[in-house]
Amino acid sequence: MADRVILTMGCSDCKSRNYYFQRGKKKDFKVELKKFCKPCGKMTLHKEMK
Ligand SMILES: [Zn+2]
Repeated sequence: MADRVILTMGCSDCKSRNYYFQRGKKKDFKVELKKFCKPCGKMTLHKEMK
């Protein structure tokens, strides 16, 4: 039984899905990270996508 979910992190500017990571099943927080986006060529805010 899987106790982890894969999150997809997408750029909030161009909507590219650039990062993946795992976390536990609890959904008690929203993930937002500043990450480098290749299509944008700069650091942008990445958010959880479904
Ligand atoms: Zn982007």
